[in-house]
Amino acid sequence: MESATNLLERKKSVSDLSAEVEETSTATTGLDSSGQSSAGAATTATTTATQHGSDEAEEDIFEQVQMILRKRRGWGPDDSLSTNDLHLLEYDDELGEEDDAGCPLPSTPEDTQLIEAEMTEVLKAGVLSDEIDLGALAHNAAEQAEEFVRKVWEASWKVCHYKNLPKWLQDNDFLHRGHRPPLPSFRACFKSIFRIHTETGNIWTHLLGFIAFIGVAVYFITRPSVEIQTQEKIVFGAFFIGAIVCLGFSFAFHTLSCHSVEMGRLFSKLDYCGIALLIMGSFVPWLYYGFYCHYQPKVIYLSVVSVLGVLSIVVSLWDKFSEPALRPLRAGVFMSFGLSGVIPAIHYSIMEGWFSQMSRASLGWLILMGLLYIIGALLYALRVPERWFPGKFDIWGQSHQIFHILVIAAAFVHYHGISEMAMYRVMYSECTVPIEPVTF
Ligand SMILES: [Zn+2]
Repeated sequence: MESATNLLERKKSVSDLSAEVEETSTATTGLDSSGQSSAGAATTATTTATQHGSDEAEEDIFEQVQMILRKRRGWGPDDSLSTNDLHLLEYDDELGEEDDAGCPLPSTPEDTQLIEAEMTEVLKAGVLSDEIDLGALAHNAAEQAEEFVRKVWEASWKVCHYKNLPKWLQDNDFLHRGHRPPLPSFRACFKSIFRIHTETGNIWTHLLGFIAFIGVAVYFITRPSVEIQTQEKIVFGAFFIGAIVCLGFSFAFHTLSCHSVEMGRLFSKLDYCGIALLIMGSFVPWLYYGFYCHYQPKVIYLSVVSVLGVLSIVVSLWDKFSEPALRPLRAGVFMSFGLSGVIPAIHYSIMEGWFSQMSRASLGWLILMGLLYIIGALLYALRVPERWFPGKFDIWGQSHQIFHILVIAAAFVHYHGISEMAMYRVMYSECTVPIEPVTF
């Protein structure tokens, strides 16, 4: 009688524990469908562990983890390779080792034998290096197994060939090898910053630029007001915000573009909005110091720039805008927005005199900045040099990296230019013409 009650109680606690584990597994986020199936199997692992002795449980868990890893699924219907792509793969014998393996992790067509051998190695290494504590596994199997599966999953993805990418990640077909597969976890995406692939250069160029501009902005804003007045700080602030937001969004986009279709789309929109903000922010100090004593044109130009900026942000939010085929349109929109600065520049030169000290100080740097942006945008649109040597600039030297570097260079040139203009205005701050009243 007593033992029967005990048995009932034991049964109950086992089912409670299973329910609890199931909850933990369901709560696991950051994994895609393949990860979810892993979580489900991990639950089974725990149930088994509770029912058997600890030695058997350890073996069971070991097998279960292997099974989980073997069970990983390929892409979903939306992401899968088209029959066409598979056909292409069969005939592409130029592809190297990575192509034979496809993109084994985390969600690519699988080679069962390869993955099995690879996973056995990883598991062995895990046990030997105490990554998996078998004793602890018996007590808290689900969490350990899940954590381990996640670690293996995040660490073991391989770069793949352009043709092995799902459609939504296929952007530049002149870059052949070294692409990241879809990594539907923010953690995995951020960890990929430290791996070598087609986006490494893009990520680091704008991450470093982002940090550098934060440094310059903090230095500028924290100067005592006897050195730099509050008004100057606000005007320069618009430029700093534009540059920091642009470089920050760009860094985020290149890091997270492989997360999922939705994240890729969202961050590409933010990336374009960042470019529009940088152009707007660059206009503000230039127009402010350029038309220092001419209130009316200053207000008109600033209003026009704001309208054009908002327009380009609206265009950037259009879903189709980020499609590879619209690359020239994107370059065109931002280039025309930037080049619209030619009008106030000519106006300004006529007003100040083409060869006055002030003109030379501001126009020289402005022209250099414009050239850097134009070269960058042209390389971006034409995809040079990888267009001429497909597959030769996969990791370093591709057009997008050059474009990124030119953007940073142009932003620093502009910072230098507006600093000179500001210095000139502060030194000779007396407006020779009275401040005009606003008349429309
Ligand atoms: Zn970029």
